[in-house]
Amino acid sequence: MSEPDPIPVRVRPAIAALPAYKQGRQAAPDAFKLSSNENPYDPLPGVVDALRAVTAVNRYPDASAARLRERLAADYGVSPDAVHIGAGSVSLIAQLISATAGPGDEVIYAWRSFEAYPSLVEVSGAASVRIPLTEDARHDLAAMADAITDRTRTILVCSPNNPTGPVITQPEFDDFVTRVPRDVLIVLDEAYAEFVTSPDAVDGLRVLQAGHPNVVVLRTFSKAYGLAGLRVGYGIGHPRVLDAARSTAIPLSVTAHAEEAALASLDARAELLERVAEITARRDTLAAGLRDQGWRVPDAQGNFVWLATGPDTLAVADAFHDGGIVVRPFAGEGVRISVGEHESVDRVLRIAGSVVEDLP
Ligand code: PMP
Repeated sequence: MSEPDPIPVRVRPAIAALPAYKQGRQAAPDAFKLSSNENPYDPLPGVVDALRAVTAVNRYPDASAARLRERLAADYGVSPDAVHIGAGSVSLIAQLISATAGPGDEVIYAWRSFEAYPSLVEVSGAASVRIPLTEDARHDLAAMADAITDRTRTILVCSPNNPTGPVITQPEFDDFVTRVPRDVLIVLDEAYAEFVTSPDAVDGLRVLQAGHPNVVVLRTFSKAYGLAGLRVGYGIGHPRVLDAARSTAIPLSVTAHAEEAALASLDARAELLERVAEITARRDTLAAGLRDQGWRVPDAQGNFVWLATGPDTLAVADAFHDGGIVVRPFAGEGVRISVGEHESVDRVLRIAGSVVEDLP
């Protein structure tokens, strides 16, 4: 067997060993693509008009997306410098990690959680400290607090947790914050906040109002607002912490299109939230149907459901694929199924019903 070609330039060993971010499988034309927690609805006409109105693409966008920042600040009742816009919330996670953690430092997060966390930590040079989820697929905040050392610089918490679904409750989070040293950053990743229907879920805005300068709350226009293809998300937190994140940002990565579409989406918020209500109702129907079939589905508070299929995961994902549903498998653990088009629900249930009979 011949040796693979050596990399022609010297790459940091940790990076050479790091796989690039992998997207789910592409969907066949008649399949439902339920692998990336996307919003199944087309953009609203107002959003399309706003995109068409951006014509001066020979000019750079506004570096701080000031209009969007001011609009969000007004909506949330905070100052504009307490808001930071990024090219998707994933870029804000990267910025916050690299602003706080480097070689010799530790970043704590639950596992399994959002699959981008490990590689973003690796790129920063810090070490990942992964704390297993509980039996019912929730964050084990007590164990996460116990794992804090004097090298801990950053803690990532995800509510609702991607890919498993449950939220962190407000009392759990309030207690957790008191156990975290004030110079350690807590990133509260609320990418799916708008889909939450559980009344005792943590609300990042309430946490910030309670005055925790070491917490940054992240939200995105990719999920509930259906702008995943445009890449725009935001962080809310203490201006000095966000200044540090801004210093690590790749300049000018939020496009004028992204900013205008986000503003138009906020104008259409009421209509978009009606769609969100349809998706959450569909999610609850799907989760209930799966439970009736005998699946143990953890509390689903995002726009997706989780099936813990363990060693059968790849076979289960293939069965869905063959039936015209693209899901996201996590080998050895489970499959995540996004809540998509109305017509996809019956198809998912039909396949899940026949798969569950074949499982040991
Ligand atoms: N956080 C979580 C938990 C996610 O699931 C995702 C997207 N899958 C993101 C952040 C990033 O979303 P975006 O960059 O599109 O805002």
